[in-house]
Amino acid sequence: MNQTHSEILPSEVSHSNMKSYEQARSEFSWDEIERHFTWYETGKVNMAYEAIDRHVAEGRGDKVALLYSDAAREETLTFAQLKEKSDKFGNVLRKYGVGKGDRVFIFMPRGPELYAGLLGILKVGAVVGPLFEAFMETAVKDRLEDSGAVALITTPALLSRVKRDELPELKHIFVVGEVEEVDPRLVNYHEEVEAASSELEIEWLEREDGLIMHYTSGSTGKPKGVYHVQNAMVQHYYTGKVVLDLREDDIYWCTADPGWVTGTSYGIFAPWLNGVTNVIRGGRFSPQDWYSTLVNNKVTVWYSAPTAFRMLMGAGSDLIDQYDLSHVRHVLSVGEPLNPEVVRWGHKAYKQRIHDTWWMTETGGQLICNYPGMAIKPGSMGRPLPGITAAILDDHGKEVAPYTMGNLAIKTPWPSMMRTIWNNEAKYQEYFRIPGWYISGDSAYMDEDGYFWFQGRIDDVINSSGERIGPFEVESKLVEHPAVAEAGVIGKPDVTRGEIIKAFISLREGYTPSQELKDEIYRFVKEGLSAHAAPREIEFKDKLPKTRSGKIMRRVLKAWELDLPTGDLSTIED
Ligand code: ATP
Ligand code: MG
Repeated sequence: MNQTHSEILPSEVSHSNMKSYEQARSEFSWDEIERHFTWYETGKVNMAYEAIDRHVAEGRGDKVALLYSDAAREETLTFAQLKEKSDKFGNVLRKYGVGKGDRVFIFMPRGPELYAGLLGILKVGAVVGPLFEAFMETAVKDRLEDSGAVALITTPALLSRVKRDELPELKHIFVVGEVEEVDPRLVNYHEEVEAASSELEIEWLEREDGLIMHYTSGSTGKPKGVYHVQNAMVQHYYTGKVVLDLREDDIYWCTADPGWVTGTSYGIFAPWLNGVTNVIRGGRFSPQDWYSTLVNNKVTVWYSAPTAFRMLMGAGSDLIDQYDLSHVRHVLSVGEPLNPEVVRWGHKAYKQRIHDTWWMTETGGQLICNYPGMAIKPGSMGRPLPGITAAILDDHGKEVAPYTMGNLAIKTPWPSMMRTIWNNEAKYQEYFRIPGWYISGDSAYMDEDGYFWFQGRIDDVINSSGERIGPFEVESKLVEHPAVAEAGVIGKPDVTRGEIIKAFISLREGYTPSQELKDEIYRFVKEGLSAHAAPREIEFKDKLPKTRSGKIMRRVLKAWELDLPTGDLSTIED
């Protein structure tokens, strides 16, 4: 699809540490970034040390590390307190024989114990596997079984979803709360932590030793155990500095749950490696609750997702006017394409351009971004960060011309690249089928200024009358229509056209489905984008199927439409 991108906006985040894009690229060196870490001198590596203990050792122990709140609880922990709590839990794990290389999972709602527990796991050299609290029995079992987890932290309420009888390798379950039941595998988390010593000899590791396993969100198929190593911290620290633009006095809030990679790479590691105060809000999304969280904590840097921004946009500006958000100085988005309409709205609503960032579970950290100091083109995911080379390749690995849609690929390696897919080396190798490149599975094109434009997942690209159409551009045009809250677009087989475009649409408050509205929306896309991109079929839905991380599941829409099996649904919302 050939369009011009005339809309270029300044980033408006004033920045102290970025040079011009070209200069930053040419002067960039990973070695310079690695000098920041204590292991550069000592050779002793541990993420939890760099993220927490180091700040205590360097005299910043009294600084607030965690500002936790939910409807029922508020808790503030300094770096020194978080060090102590994680040291204690590390000792509990050692007592039960858990150590280097073991997989230890966490299956519980956000809360201080989750964060202290995760750090404790890392301190003994174990590999942590965070699971989203909403997973049901089979989803939990599949992941614990596949990873061969030996221990788990959970809560009394979630314990019934852990099929202990079918998980012989799972030897210890640390329960945060009281349980009546007697089972030698059950350990009372609080009692044990209370009794444990706070002197812990941290497990020193190599840069290539394990850190974390994330099962991907399952937008496209069965979840994969993406395995990351300690070395990822180089990317977390660096992107925290240049993309999140974290500075000493920032109050930072990443809205993602640690069950998703954003909730760890950018909800735990990046902020704490940079020594900033981290806000964690428990409970569910509501516009009022989120605005209050921003205000009550005086958040300065805010990282969220398109689905949340779209819902906030739907909630209207009357609501925003009730809050003084002037302390927010930088807003970022990840997880799905960020519609230009949302960027424009963000500027009106928050006096901030929302900065889109592109990366994946597999990449461990941000790679293509709009970052402070760089001009933003609304709808573009930005440009590759200094240190990162990206390209659009055809299926044979040849770079294509600007504006040609193809495989979004990243030159290997970079520090936070996954090191394997657990128990599935064949799947891992598929990502590297073109020598020297990581093939993302996303489809995009590059413009003449080197900005990348996401089009859709490779499998979601639609072929209509010989034209290749990315669902994202159609969806973005659809949400510009005042009646449309969200849209998911698929290709539907058609005898004459190959495929036609079918749009599933949820309407904004105050609009009702009708044939006239369908016709009007069709014309809106036809005139605003192109005839072949206009949805010949439209279906209104109360809600679109989404993953729990908020991504529209187009494969489910397609399966419904074509009466195909829906595949793995473990990550679907409600
Ligand atoms: P699965 O791989 O199991 O199907 P998933 O791909 O949704 O799930 P994630 O790793 O959480 O799991 O998501 C990465 C994907 O999300 C990217 O490949 C891309 O399709 C999409 N994505 C992330 N950020 C952006 C962005 N800024 N713009 C467009 N798409 C994005
Ligand atoms: Mg994926």
